[in-house]
Amino acid sequence: AKSLAQFDPELKAAIQAEEHRQEAHIELIASENYCSPAVMEAQGSQLTNKYAEGYPGKRYYGGCEFVDVAETLAIDRLKQLFDCDYANVQPHSGAQANAAVFIALVNPGDTVMGMNLAQGGHLTHGHPANFSGKQYKIVPYGLDPVTGVINYDEMERLAIEHKPKMLIGGFSAYSRIKDWKRMREIADKVGAYFWVDMAHVAGLVAAGEYPSPLPYAHVVTSTTHKTLRGPRGGIILTKGQGEDFNKKFQSAVFPGIQGGPLMHVIAAKAVAFKEALSPEFKVYQKQVVANARAMAKVFLDRGYKVVSNGTDNHLFLLDLIARNVTGKDAEAALGQAHITVNKNSVPNDPKSAFVTSGLRIGSPASTTRGFGEKEMAEVAGWIADVVDAMSAGNGVDEAIAKARGQVEQLCARFPVYQAAKKAA
Ligand code: PLP
Repeated sequence: AKSLAQFDPELKAAIQAEEHRQEAHIELIASENYCSPAVMEAQGSQLTNKYAEGYPGKRYYGGCEFVDVAETLAIDRLKQLFDCDYANVQPHSGAQANAAVFIALVNPGDTVMGMNLAQGGHLTHGHPANFSGKQYKIVPYGLDPVTGVINYDEMERLAIEHKPKMLIGGFSAYSRIKDWKRMREIADKVGAYFWVDMAHVAGLVAAGEYPSPLPYAHVVTSTTHKTLRGPRGGIILTKGQGEDFNKKFQSAVFPGIQGGPLMHVIAAKAVAFKEALSPEFKVYQKQVVANARAMAKVFLDRGYKVVSNGTDNHLFLLDLIARNVTGKDAEAALGQAHITVNKNSVPNDPKSAFVTSGLRIGSPASTTRGFGEKEMAEVAGWIADVVDAMSAGNGVDEAIAKARGQVEQLCARFPVYQAAKKAA
């Protein structure tokens, strides 16, 4: 059998180029991370070959005795990690986990309240281009335009007015603590299910650095690849809801929306959950928050507007409206400096979602490669140098070149996978 390099040099070259990019660029996309070599080893295993429709002990295929071990390990570790009593580890992605919740708890045409995408929500929380926005009547809630913080009184008013069947907590771009208790109270007031999609903060929740939604939500979903630092995938959790309720999610995932589970990914999830149960993971998540705060402070000190004036988690939004720089242009300029961020809408954004007036900046990936507050503050300074030049309309090329040189040196000092390989 030929190696990948021998059989498909074109593809091998693309993989190698991506490996190099991940080492040589600073990754500040809030939803990304570097999973461990052990996670990748499990994901690259022969478990990819196995059909295992059904659940451990109740499969529609023979030969499942070993993948049953892998899935059971993943389930048991996940329940321990989030102190809950039901876990489904089969959703192929966060969007699949979310689709299963819609199918399990509401009917097409029902009213559902979720956070507006433009103000921090996710596509699957009711965006018109997504199944969630097409099949359900969505009432979006959002931020107070002045403070940039969620206005719970307004959320309650909307809930009482529209009587949703389900209220969605969770977000893709919100830098503050969400008040899960208050949201459950609002849901109870109108008889709605309360579902939290904790994809962004799952790692922080696992480490006790962000309040767990499990004591308050009827159901919790997450991805496994963001702060949780596992393989790409989704999960569904509940606590104290009883077997009949949990069965709804079991059947919504399979046979509802998926066929055979990705057993190699489930094995990799099991590895990631074991890592997340370790004391080192708690130290890491504490640093993630400290690093995001260190970056936000640099921007505030340099006169930038940060939505809600700071952060309590792994990300924040830089508001560039007053700088007259678009998120699209800033993302492209920083890309040339080998700093990867994404454009993001900010409250009262005059630009479209394709252009925007903001950047979303996150600390999980660079914290994994070993950056501390000092390095994060340096990187924030380079970003501000580039955006300052763009705002002033001169010296942009020089600022980009200077930042790129500094990025190169810093990345060389903090290798991602070479360091892990050496340690192994
Ligand atoms: N939920 C939230 C809050 C997210 O931010 C995301 C991804 O960005 C998802 C769900 C979707 O996850 P996936 O990309 O795995 O479908």
